[in-house]
Amino acid sequence: MKLRWLIAILVLFILKQLAWPAPPTQPDRQVAITIDDLPAGSAESMTAATLTEMTSKLLATLRQQNVPAVGFVNEGKLYKAGEVDARIKVLNMWLDSGFELGNHTFHHTSLNRAGLEAWEDDIVQGEPIIKLLLAQHKMKLRYFRHPYLDTGADLQTRREAEAFLSRRGYSVAPVTVDGWDWNFAGVYEDARKRGDTALMQEVVRLYLAHHDAMFAYCEQLSRDVVGYEPRQILLLHGNQLEGDHIGELLNLIRQRGYRFITLEEALADPAYSLPDTYVGVEGTSWLEHWAITKGKPPQGAPQFPPQIVERTKALRGY
Ligand SMILES: [Zn+2]
Repeated sequence: MKLRWLIAILVLFILKQLAWPAPPTQPDRQVAITIDDLPAGSAESMTAATLTEMTSKLLATLRQQNVPAVGFVNEGKLYKAGEVDARIKVLNMWLDSGFELGNHTFHHTSLNRAGLEAWEDDIVQGEPIIKLLLAQHKMKLRYFRHPYLDTGADLQTRREAEAFLSRRGYSVAPVTVDGWDWNFAGVYEDARKRGDTALMQEVVRLYLAHHDAMFAYCEQLSRDVVGYEPRQILLLHGNQLEGDHIGELLNLIRQRGYRFITLEEALADPAYSLPDTYVGVEGTSWLEHWAITKGKPPQGAPQFPPQIVERTKALRGY
């Protein structure tokens, strides 16, 4: 009798396994988070108190979710009369919280527009404070992010710029996923100032949906161009939208099967040594560099929400 029961239970167990197979395994997707234009994209129009509040919120979310990040600094944004010390403190919050800082030039200078010499000068000018703060945290300045992702309008300039960066001890921080969060952030910050909560919610909805679509596009482009999905590097910016909502974006990314890694870990992916001869007046992501280098210009990028474009135009008065 006992044996019959045992067999019955065993049969039921097998049937259950057949009826509910294990869920398909998620791909092991990895992404490093980088946050540009620190202390904030629109730091000039923010008070040090606002910058402090925004930064502490942003860093608290990253820490709660155990997400590493590198922040890229424009030291020019620190020089506001009476607020220099307070603004330096904002940068120091990043290091005190265990994050890393890199150089993004002093004035956010485009290599393609300013030319090599002025761009090099702006990199040197952008170093002293972050170097000092990093040294106080027993770290060395090692990462550089090109403003506007402008890496050179011709190959000779591009290679000379890379040689300059390497002589100064920098690793270039590429970008593979760029959802133009700064463009959503401009509209969000204006709505926030006016207390327009309906518009704020709408911007957040569009920002999340666009990033989801951009990740899907980059994953497909990765498979087409690289042959697999490399460790991605996401470009975000210091702003109120990220301060208030980066947690929702991180959840969305996690739902796509990603885990969060350091920039150093991402750069160990062999994809970042692929041939790259991209030159152009417009900066763009490294996935697009690789695609264009292979003679396969990318297609099917998700459309940026036209509502946001219209709002941005209206805000700028054109
Ligand atoms: Zn920037």
